[in-house]
Amino acid sequence: MQGATNVRVAIVAGTRPEVVKLAPVRAALAAKGGFTPVWISTEQQAALNRQALDTLGIAPDVALPAPANDASLAARFAHVMDQLDRAYEKVQPDLVVVQGDTSSTAAGAMAAFARRLPVAHVEAGLRTFDLASPFPEEGWRCVVGQLAELHFAPTGVAAGNLTRQGVADSRVFVTGNTGVDSVRLAAAGLAPEPATEGLRRIMVTLHRRENWGEALENVLGALLDIRDHVPDVEIVFVAHANPALRQRVFALLEGQARMRVIGPLEYTDFLRLLKSCVMVMSDSGGVQEEAPVFGVPVLVLRESTERMEAVTAGVARLAGVSRAGVAGLACLLLTDEAERQTMARALSPFGDGYAAERIVEVLTRHYAQRLADDPISRLNAG
Ligand code: UDP
Repeated sequence: MQGATNVRVAIVAGTRPEVVKLAPVRAALAAKGGFTPVWISTEQQAALNRQALDTLGIAPDVALPAPANDASLAARFAHVMDQLDRAYEKVQPDLVVVQGDTSSTAAGAMAAFARRLPVAHVEAGLRTFDLASPFPEEGWRCVVGQLAELHFAPTGVAAGNLTRQGVADSRVFVTGNTGVDSVRLAAAGLAPEPATEGLRRIMVTLHRRENWGEALENVLGALLDIRDHVPDVEIVFVAHANPALRQRVFALLEGQARMRVIGPLEYTDFLRLLKSCVMVMSDSGGVQEEAPVFGVPVLVLRESTERMEAVTAGVARLAGVSRAGVAGLACLLLTDEAERQTMARALSPFGDGYAAERIVEVLTRHYAQRLADDPISRLNAG
C-alpha cells in the first residue's frame, strides 16, 4: 500500500501542555514524509505557550493574535475560533489535529467542523463524567469527542469511554499519551536538580480554574502545616503565570522557612526538579502523567481525576482540596517511608513514549486508504 502523500496537517496549540504534547507529533509527521505539519499557535496562554515553544525549538508557522487577558471565557473562545477560521482559510489543511481539553482544542475542532475539515483528537476519551469538574475542560473534550473523525486515546480506559458513548471502534486508537514521548525525549541523561542538604524535597503546582479561591487558600494552609509537622521537608511551589494565583502564592509562602516559590520553569528544568522530589502535589494533568515515569508519588489536589489509571496503579492518590485532608495525607507519606515507598515505583500507566509514532502510522494508513479509494488523487500522486 502507498503511504500518505502531500497531506497538510494543521496542528493547533495555544497552551503549555498542548505544546509539550504535540511537539512529538509534529516531529513524527515531519520524519515520516508525505505530511506537511503546519503549526498554528493560538497564543491562548501567551507567556507559557511561548516559553514551551522556545524550549522545544518550535517556530509556529502561523501565530494568531492572543485573546485579551481580561476577556470572559466565552469571549476568549469566540476570539480563538474566529482567528482559527481565518487561519484554516489561508492554510487549507487536509486535517486538523487538536490535543486535550483547552479552549483552543474545542475552538479548533469546532472551526474545523464548520469548514468540513476532518479533526484528529490527541489525548481523546479522558472523562470524569462531571461537567463541573474539571471546568471547563470536561465540556470541551466532550465537544471534541463528538466532532473528531480520529480519536487517539492514551489508554484502554479512555478508549472505552469513547466507544461507550457511541464512537465507532474503527475510529478509536490506543496510542499512549504523547506527553510521555516528550518525557522520554527530554529526560534521557537529564540529571535531577541537586538536593538541598539534609532536606527531602516536595514540589507543588496548582493552577486549575476549579481550584482558584477557597481551594487554593486551603492548599497553601496545608503546605504550612506540612512544613511545621515534618522537620526535614523542603517545599518548592512552582507557580503558574496567572497573576491572581501568583499574587496569593507569593503573599502566603514567600520568605517562609523551607519554602520556595519559583517558576514558571522551562520544561526541562521542570523535569529535573520533578526528578529530584520525594513527592509531588499537583492538580496538573501533565504532572500526573510525568511523575510516575520518574517513580515520584503524586498527590492529586482535586476531588476527582480523569487520569484514574495512576491511582489504580497505586502511584497516585486523590488528596482532595481540604486543608486537613491534604496535610494529613502528605504528612502520613512523609513520616511513614514504607507507605511512601509503595507509591514510589517507576512505571508509566499513560504510555511507553512512542505514542506519536503510532499516531502517524494510523494517519499514514488512513490517507493511503483514501488514496486507494480515490482514482483522481491516485493519478496526481503518480
Ligand atoms: N510544566 C513546565 N513548567 C512549569 C510547570 C509545568 O514546563 O513550570 C510542564 C509540565 O512538565 C507538563 C505541563 O507543563 O508537561 C503541564 O502543564 P499544566 O500543568 O499547565 O497543564 P495541565 O497538564 O494541567 O493541562
